Amino acid sequence: MPAWFDAFTDAIASGDQQYLVCETCGHGTLPPRQLCPACGSTELTQEPLSERGEILSFTEISVTIPKFHGETPYTVVLAELDEGVSLTGQLRDATPDDIAIGDKVVLGTEPHDNETALITFQQAED
Ligand SMILES: [Zn+2]
Repeated sequence: MPAWFDAFTDAIASGDQQYLVCETCGHGTLPPRQLCPACGSTELTQEPLSERGEILSFTEISVTIPKFHGETPYTVVLAELDEGVSLTGQLRDATPDDIAIGDKVVLGTEPHDNETALITFQQAED
């Protein structure tokens, strides 16, 4: 995984994940960006990113790349965090039958192999 991803999952693990906010238009995005994808501004500042979001879509994966063999089936969730930033991660402690679009989820991370970590989502408690 690229260095920015490892840095991002490390930050999630310690609870100080951040995102980039465009000072020109307010669009939120994730590192590594040099330009706002919405308006092209280079005035991006880092702000704390919450760990709570909402499911936009999800899909169950039964056939995957070798890296994830032995883990299927698993569910990948696309969630929008409260700041409007979208992220994909693996669903934990639930199956596709347990979740619905719009459900609240909590961002997390876990080690995947010796080299990198995964982004995960769990259903929010409340
Ligand atoms: Zn912008």
